[in-house]
Amino acid sequence: MNKGYVYLVGAGPGDIRLMTIKGQQCLEKADVVLYDRLVNPLLLEQTKPDIELVYCGKLPDRHILRQEAIQELLVDYAKKGKIVVRLKGGDPSVYGRVGEEAAALEAAGIRYEIIPGITAGIGASTYAGVPVTHREYGASFAIVTGHDQSKNGQPQIDWKALATGIDTIAFYMGVKNLPYICEQLTINGRNPSTPVMLVQWGTLGKQRVLTGTLETIVNKVLVEKFTNPAITLVGDVTKLRTKESWFELQPLFSKHILFARTSSSKSKIANQLRDNGADVFEFPRMKMNDYTNEPPFPYEQYEQIIFHSEESVDWFFRDLQRKHLDIRSINASFYGASTKSQLRIQSYACLSYSLNQLQKDGKRLVIGPESIIKNVLTRQERYGEHDCLISHALTVIHQSNGTCRRLLEEDRIDTIIFPSAESVRVVTEQMADHDQTPLTLSNRAEIICFGPESERVAEQLGYRIDHRLEKPTFEALLHVLQKKRR
Ligand code: SAH
Repeated sequence: MNKGYVYLVGAGPGDIRLMTIKGQQCLEKADVVLYDRLVNPLLLEQTKPDIELVYCGKLPDRHILRQEAIQELLVDYAKKGKIVVRLKGGDPSVYGRVGEEAAALEAAGIRYEIIPGITAGIGASTYAGVPVTHREYGASFAIVTGHDQSKNGQPQIDWKALATGIDTIAFYMGVKNLPYICEQLTINGRNPSTPVMLVQWGTLGKQRVLTGTLETIVNKVLVEKFTNPAITLVGDVTKLRTKESWFELQPLFSKHILFARTSSSKSKIANQLRDNGADVFEFPRMKMNDYTNEPPFPYEQYEQIIFHSEESVDWFFRDLQRKHLDIRSINASFYGASTKSQLRIQSYACLSYSLNQLQKDGKRLVIGPESIIKNVLTRQERYGEHDCLISHALTVIHQSNGTCRRLLEEDRIDTIIFPSAESVRVVTEQMADHDQTPLTLSNRAEIICFGPESERVAEQLGYRIDHRLEKPTFEALLHVLQKKRR
């Protein structure tokens, strides 16, 4: 049997787009992913559907998966011939125990690669607006643990060398021992007025920053209740911190958006939201299963073909190809049930029309996903007299429910966007598995509907709607997202 392969991958500090392309490629081909607590769960949305995901952090009912156990799992999975990704926050070689894992794999004769990532000390500082080196303020930079294996966890290091020899110091895991750290630096010669900055949950929407000096920071941390994960950056470079960094100034910084979806494709608007600084979770993730219709279907008999979704358009052209049919043998006019499906029809160099332009007479075919085609009443109400054809079925990829649970637990959904009526139904159904109702969701999040239809269905189901867009565009959405909450 083929021996598997293990990738020890750095996930970056939080922002999902800070992972390397190589790391992402590994994630996309993995058969199993073992991930740590500090890995952004949104990254797991990029794996193949329904692969095995193993959480290696703390759970309420079980203590941390021990290091030896993780190593054994890596070896076992690889021996079964799997492509394994071990996903770690930041860079795997910075307090990531990658050395031990690599040694275990070597001992077992398993091939592996290590893929670096952006470490939190640099990522979080940069997103707080502070470069770790600067020609005027800092020529040297050190990464130091704020917690070690000693009895009381207080790091046993050469404090004198650190205090007097290094300009910028990033302490990891250092919040608990902050009083000790500040004390050691000061008694070993660092000026008590040296500026210090703490960045908690750096590069994420919930990033918080605190500044002070070696003398004042301990008290400030107590008052502000700062906890891990945070980076403590000591040194003159932290003077460069302004009231808000470039990251915190982005229009949608600190928004945690659930963008409801009903298709397997990624939403362009969701990406535009990310570009404006929001954390976006497209939910639920869907898998598309093609239907194949045998024997040949008499498309040429129809005068109107209505496509319910973009996927149905793609499927239709694939079906023509599969059956060696020429598009010129089709006489029908093409209609898209949504703007997106109309645009998709045009992308195949065919004219497309909206449903408002439907001619009353004419033999009509509707092509759509299983869920719509099986819903006879809705279909007849929308499309009148017609024949129908199922193009595909969409099924929810259950691992995205795991991601959803984590985000709910961590209070990382404060805005829910419904682009369509169907998306309201789908999300409501999935959320029931997490004991969330339209009411509880309306209490925790701002509810935004794209149009009258989604608003009507959301209201019917019991949501309290905060905004309905004037127009279903990104600009209109950005506008309401920037308004103050009710
Ligand atoms: N391998 C990781 C570090 C793991 S040790 C890396 O290279 O970044 C865990 C510590 O990293 C945390 O206690 C905290 O000090 C720091 N850390 C990780 N993610 C962080 C984040 N998003 N913001 C601030 N600090 C973070």
